[in-house]
Amino acid sequence: MATRVAVSDGGNKKTSRVRVAVRLRPYMNKEDEKSEGPCVRGLDSQNLEIINWRNATETVKYHFDVFHGEQTTQQEVFLSSVKPILPHILNGQNASVFAYGPTGAGKTHTMLGSSEQPGVIPRAVREVFKLVKAKDASDGWDYSIGMSYLEIYNEKVLDLLSPNSQDLPIREDKDKNILIPGLTHMNISKFADFDKHFVPATLNRTTASTKLNQRSSRSHAILLIKVVRTQQQLPHRQQTGKLYLVDLAGSEDNRRTGNQGIRLKESGAINLSLFTLSKVVDSLNSGTSVRVPYRDSKLTRLLQDSLGGSAHSVMITNIAPEYKYYFDTFSALNFAAKSKLIVNKPFTRETVAVVPVKRSREERETGGSGT
Ligand code: ADP
Ligand code: MG
Repeated sequence: MATRVAVSDGGNKKTSRVRVAVRLRPYMNKEDEKSEGPCVRGLDSQNLEIINWRNATETVKYHFDVFHGEQTTQQEVFLSSVKPILPHILNGQNASVFAYGPTGAGKTHTMLGSSEQPGVIPRAVREVFKLVKAKDASDGWDYSIGMSYLEIYNEKVLDLLSPNSQDLPIREDKDKNILIPGLTHMNISKFADFDKHFVPATLNRTTASTKLNQRSSRSHAILLIKVVRTQQQLPHRQQTGKLYLVDLAGSEDNRRTGNQGIRLKESGAINLSLFTLSKVVDSLNSGTSVRVPYRDSKLTRLLQDSLGGSAHSVMITNIAPEYKYYFDTFSALNFAAKSKLIVNKPFTRETVAVVPVKRSREERETGGSGT
């Protein structure tokens, strides 16, 4: 459901779970050379089904917190999955939104979008300005907004607002806040300020390479919006709320596509960050008191204070309906799903549940398609 459930972190600390939404992009002819049609379809606002590769007369039905079908607009994704968490960052709390899924499934469309169909990032930034403006100094606090923009590529942290940046260190202060000394921080007082810094940095990143396995599909692009509020009266107390908006590296298994040498090394590093992210989300969402392995990768270390704990987090898993994405879709769904069932008679509404399949931990961790 759309509710956040607080679960115990093994001690007295409360940790929140990560809400998981799945978004299916529209079917595209050009992605389906053999004209096989879609292999995935939505059922309702929480469920979808995918044809079972082991037995084409069956489908596997998955259940999520939220399912966004191919008709879902950018506005609807924003309103249901992102807007509700934004007020918290004005109160000194942290939040993170990330897009997960294979290359070509719609992560960048969801996060960035286009000028005709703006995605989560421009909508969220506008909304933060709107929320701050609505406060209008009447609540006893002054607000300021800032931004940073970075990339994790091959387990290196690179500043996208400072083109020649070297790998930056990630540190933790005495209050357990995660910070990156040396990372560019720009104050922004209106949306146009944001655009001025963000657009050139994004263009830089996405046009650096045009190959299939381009850099933009192998790196994590991380936009940080920081809201600092200062009490107008003594003692001028300050609170900082952080919002991370993340377009993750493609979740496809690069080992299958025959990458070698430097490419293979990059794949390995991506797999480490994404693999660790999946372990972190799993341990937050399973509610067990196992150690959350934030320190095992740069991505999760950076997100440590904004994922779980008292933070508000949403993962939007993007999937594509064509057969060429089949195995990557399966592994993304196994990561995202709360449960799944095998049903007979694919793609009919009169399906009957025959075999409940319990999702094993091993299967979730390997992202394997264990149906
Ligand atoms: P990713 O970032 O995951 O590699 P993209 O966002 O680049 O994927 O999407 C791949 C292609 O599909 C792009 O041409 C994009 O415009 C299109 N696309 C993705 N999602 C949608 C959607 N919901 N509606 C329409 N087009 C979409
Ligand atoms: Mg992309």
